[in-house]
Amino acid sequence: MTDALLAEHEIQLQEAARAFVAREITPNVAAWDRARRTPRELLARMGELGWLGTAFPEEVGGSGGGSVLYALLCAELARGSAGVALSMYVHTALACAAVHHLGTGEQRRRILPAALRGARIGCWAYAEPGAGSDVSSVRTRARKEGDGYELDGSKLYITNAPFADFAVLVASTAPDRGLKWLSLFVVELDRPGIAVGRPMEKLGMGVSEMAEIVLEGCRIPEADRLGPEGTGFIEAMKVLTLGRIAAAAFGVGLGRAAHETALTHARERVQFGAPLVRQQFVRFTLADMATRLEAAWQLTLHAARLADAGKSHGTEASMAKLFATETCTWACERALHLCGAQGYMLESAAQRFYRDCKVLEWGEGTSEIQRETIARALEG
Ligand SMILES: Cc1cc2nc3c(=O)[nH]c(=O)nc-3n(C[C@H](O)[C@H](O)[C@H](O)COP(=O)(O)OP(=O)(O)OC[C@H]3O[C@@H](n4cnc5c(N)ncnc54)[C@H](O)[C@@H]3O)c2cc1C
Repeated sequence: MTDALLAEHEIQLQEAARAFVAREITPNVAAWDRARRTPRELLARMGELGWLGTAFPEEVGGSGGGSVLYALLCAELARGSAGVALSMYVHTALACAAVHHLGTGEQRRRILPAALRGARIGCWAYAEPGAGSDVSSVRTRARKEGDGYELDGSKLYITNAPFADFAVLVASTAPDRGLKWLSLFVVELDRPGIAVGRPMEKLGMGVSEMAEIVLEGCRIPEADRLGPEGTGFIEAMKVLTLGRIAAAAFGVGLGRAAHETALTHARERVQFGAPLVRQQFVRFTLADMATRLEAAWQLTLHAARLADAGKSHGTEASMAKLFATETCTWACERALHLCGAQGYMLESAAQRFYRDCKVLEWGEGTSEIQRETIARALEG
């Protein structure tokens, strides 16, 4: 699957990312997954290559690429390792993008150049034990204290937290009063009053570490608030569309990896005197996978191209995210099915794809939240 309409510089990045994946990721991904370890050094390497800054302008330390290039990068990385792609995208499309879109000039200068070089890594700390899809139930409190805030609460399931240097954190200045009191803060994780838990054990995404962040009487200066008090989170949701485009591209990349694995298996495995790929059911499944993944990719590229052209693209980003991540889950399940018992063994890539894929349907707003967003846009 190629896109004949990609520009020369887009093809160059795609090819460079493919070579990087083949050299640095593919030989190691199974071992990283078994060890439940994020290759932190790989994020630094991608920073040196300028890739972490792909979607950011040069004046903040980025490489001025844009959303299409970023989507290409996410898709290629996810093809090599969903966990590497998850860590990269949480750092860039969520933590760094929030600082870029909502931060003051001083905050951008303080945070972004080192973060986009990969010298410092960020995480996005929104979810809590009681707050998942329902944003208004965030209970982490930011109490105004003198010339700053005191933070209390806990953040759960936070990707990159075990090794991150800073967090973009959602907290409320009035926890019982709902959405309009939520603010964003960019918080150094070595501050007194912050404890990061041990890496949490999970079904998939073994290459991406996550942990709980507990805040107890953590004092931060007012200069660490991102955007206006009270409406910071709502503002963030309006501008952080890059995350949905990235999640969609991620789904396409992981789905393509699953498709390639199934295709290889179907060519090599002989049953009833012929390779599986000669069976009509198998051929049609592989054809359906390729078709749906291509449709997902075109939706993703469309949203990214609208974003790069400065046009409204929120609904298109939601459509791409919804379709690509559900297609990815379906493709990973079909790939495992076609690989049979061999795919079920822990040394097989098919079982890893199957374990990794599901989370894409939850992050950046679950499928149901995306459907609700699209339905609301249709109502006008
Ligand atoms: C591997 C992994 C990494 C993660 N990384 C991060 C991270 O870095 N930072 C972070 O903040 N969070 C992270 N999360 C958490 C993520 O933000 C949440 O999973 C997400 O917000 C959804 O919340 P939930 O899982 O609590 O599901 P819930 O909100 O409890 O939803 C459960 C189910 O109910 C459905 N549902 C909920 N409300 C409705 C409704 N109104 N209508 C219809 N259906 C509904 C949902 O679609 C879903 O299917 C991560 C999670 C995982 C598994």
